[in-house]
Amino acid sequence: MKKKYLFTPGPTEVPEEVLIEISRPPIHHRKKDFINIFEEAVSNLKRVFFSTGEVFIFASSGTGAMEAAVQNFTEEGDKALYIESGKFGERWGELCEVFGVGATALKYEWGNAVDTGEVEEKLRENKDIKAVFATLVETSTGTLHPIEELAKVVSKSNAILIVDAVSGLGSDRIMVDKWGIDVVVSGSQKALMTPPGLSFICINEKAKYVYEKNSRKSYYWNIKKESKAMAKGQTSYTPSVNLITGLLQALKMINTEGIENTFARHEVLAKAAREGIKAMGLELFSSNPANGLTAVNIPSSDRIGGVFVKHIEEKYGVVFAGGQEKLKSKIFRIAHMGYYDKLDVIKALGVVEMALKELGVMDVLGKGVGAAMEVFTNNAKGDENNSFNF
Ligand code: PMP
Repeated sequence: MKKKYLFTPGPTEVPEEVLIEISRPPIHHRKKDFINIFEEAVSNLKRVFFSTGEVFIFASSGTGAMEAAVQNFTEEGDKALYIESGKFGERWGELCEVFGVGATALKYEWGNAVDTGEVEEKLRENKDIKAVFATLVETSTGTLHPIEELAKVVSKSNAILIVDAVSGLGSDRIMVDKWGIDVVVSGSQKALMTPPGLSFICINEKAKYVYEKNSRKSYYWNIKKESKAMAKGQTSYTPSVNLITGLLQALKMINTEGIENTFARHEVLAKAAREGIKAMGLELFSSNPANGLTAVNIPSSDRIGGVFVKHIEEKYGVVFAGGQEKLKSKIFRIAHMGYYDKLDVIKALGVVEMALKELGVMDVLGKGVGAAMEVFTNNAKGDENNSFNF
């Protein structure tokens, strides 16, 4: 079997230490051994969310926690606003529709971030908006949204702010308490270096009252019930015991690196990826690129758009993500969120250069890789106290 290098923005590479933990025989979820693991995982997750509020873990992909957020923090007939500038922003709108929430989209061209002034205006004009739904990193376009600024705007209104940080938690900064965000959802398979299958929801004090008085009926996605179970160090239903054990190991690795060093590493990796891409003469897709992934316009996309990512995977075993929906065959995305280091970025840029030459687009061999090396050798940020050797 060909050696594979995973550069997709979820799932991402998983460290061997995490895989070892996951491969151990399952233990029973109601016994002390697991309760200890679970409680430690939850308290470590709170550190990553920068929150002293409640954090719940569900056995689902990230979308499950998004659904739980809509179900527990809105009532049928509520008015809401959602930021739409990519596939995952759209998902908030789809979920609101399913749950009978009258949600209006604030739309931006894909690749652009939200203009918080426009959100402020909308909230001023519509005082009955109960919730604003946003995305930290819009994975479909590689764009970072200014959530700190957005939280300031929303906190002046009657609405709560609900943020999808499925992408970004652990690579692009989000601080629940300090920034005053009400609800944040996330998942295991991106910067948290664990396989897919866990979702998280983090809730601040203010939002706790919202779910406590919520009148919707729900069974699995019932946060009130989950909160009672959590008081005993448990989940309402059987948790993903092995994945949670793996997650705890991943969170311990983040602790060892130090979360600030983790952010610094992502910043340098992203900078090197961007400089490398630009040095090849290629264009970044996003006007406000995130640190967790880099989205790039495929050059000569009319000719090679359909084969570029496939060629790289087949020839080199390097797996990039292509574009989704209207960006299909137009962009490719290199993930560097989670278990990635400098050599990974050099590897990713190297195969891009080779593929461009092989497909007869351009000969820029060494240009991108050289620019990335410049960034790395000129920037020791993230090198200190680093037990990962990133
Ligand atoms: N939101 C964002 C920003 C994502 O990147 C993803 C996954 N790519 C999701 C939500 C959905 O998560 P999942 O596929 O785990 O349900």
